[in-house]
Formats: sequence, C-alpha cells, structure tokens
Amino acid sequence: MTEKILVIANWKMKLGLQESKDLAAVYKKLVKSEAEVIVCPTFVSLDAVGKVLAGSGIKLGAQDCFWEKSGAFTGEVSVSEIKETGAAFVIIGHSERRKYLNETDEIVHEKTKLAISAALTPIICVGETFDQRQQGAKDYVLINQTTKAVEGLEIEAGQQVIIAYEPVWVIGSGQAIEPQEAEAAHQVIRQSLFDLFSAETVKNNFRIVYGGSVDGQNVHTFTCLNNTSGVLVGGASLTINDFVAIIKNV
Ligand code: PEP
Repeated sequence: MTEKILVIANWKMKLGLQESKDLAAVYKKLVKSEAEVIVCPTFVSLDAVGKVLAGSGIKLGAQDCFWEKSGAFTGEVSVSEIKETGAAFVIIGHSERRKYLNETDEIVHEKTKLAISAALTPIICVGETFDQRQQGAKDYVLINQTTKAVEGLEIEAGQQVIIAYEPVWVIGSGQAIEPQEAEAAHQVIRQSLFDLFSAETVKNNFRIVYGGSVDGQNVHTFTCLNNTSGVLVGGASLTINDFVAIIKNV
C-alpha cells in the first residue's frame, strides 16, 4: 500500500474560535483529497474544530502539549485532554515555542515521550536558525535536535512519529528553500534515526516532512522527493484558496 502524502495545517494563534470553526467548515466542504490532511488549531478551538470536521476524513492535531500527565500546572493542557477532543496528533517543539517560550531539547523530549505514551502521533519540529546555517552548523543542529527528541524512547509497532524539518529562517518568509536542500536535510535526520533505532523501526514508524513557506506553486517539488512524506503548512493553510491549491498540487 502506498503511503498517503501528509499535509499538516498549523493554524498557529491566527484565528479566533468562530473563525476556526468557519474555516474548518470550508475545509470540510472543499478539501477533498487522497492526502492525509491534519488540522492543528489552538487548544481553545480544538474540540469545536474536531466536531466540525467529524466525518470528513480530515484529522485533528494540537499545537502543543504539557510534559506531565496531570497536576498543578496552571495554564497547561494534558495529552489525555487533547485525546478526548479526538485529536490524534500533536506538534512538539515548533521553532516559535523554542524561541518565545524557551522550549529546550529536554522539554521536547519529555513532551514527545508523554505524547507517545498516550498513543498520540508527535510531530516534532527541528531546524536551524539563519545564524546556525551561516556558521555551518545546520547538520549538527538537525542531528542534535532529532537525537535529543527521540533518543531512548520505546517505539511500539504501529506508533507513528513525524519529524518536521523546518528551517527557522524560512518560516513565514514566503520563500521556501530549494527541494534538494530539504532532501539533504531529511537524509541527515534519517541518518540520526538509524543511529538510534533499527532500520525497520525507522522505515515503519518514522515519517519526515518539510515545512517553511510551502504554497500551491512549490508543494510538489517537496512532496515528490524520495525521502519526504509530506509538508507542514503555516500561512498558506489559513486561506482556503491557497490551501486548496496545495491539496490540488500535492
Ligand atoms: C509553520 O508554522 O510551521 C510554517 C511552516 O509556517 P509557513 O508555512 O507560514 O512558513
């Protein structure tokens, strides 16, 4: 069976509750696709968007989770509550959280561990900043972030883990990197996984996607790469015409 191409829509903190429900309703109507489409609204909108999308085949993901199961952690959201909404995916370690909320590789690891224990599929974001790239540290950053996120984790048969390669300097810029560059980065990430898990586990349980200014024009240049299972889309997932163009050209 050929694997479906993943298209992950990260709505960030760009929409209110009603706007999220409205956009979800339009997705439900217009996003007809062979791709595996996952929508990630804010926590507040998660349950409502899940209800709107019910029966559409479009899947639901959260943008984050907390690293403890439950307890006195005011303002945080647990993996079990995320699951209750029907979400099956959770983005972990997005560069915006690493930057603005000081999420460390250790935090990313703890969140990934808990997400997996709850049978959620983590979408772990890794990627270099512009400075790191200028310093020639890109591969080092990818190896380090990937390794620290998943090292030592038990990956049961059937458990999926998605690694999203997102060059930080490209996110929201409107200018994606060259597909060959993404392909090389994905190879580095895959090699890191081979150092940690059996070849079978890497093949069966891990998928690598590209994120960073994906649009309807460039999406196919990424999804046609051999070692790429799909795309993570921010800005272009917020406008239905742009998203439909992505889905059409995937
Ligand atoms: C993102 O938010 O992860 C992202 C890839 O955003 P954009 O598509 O806008 O670059």
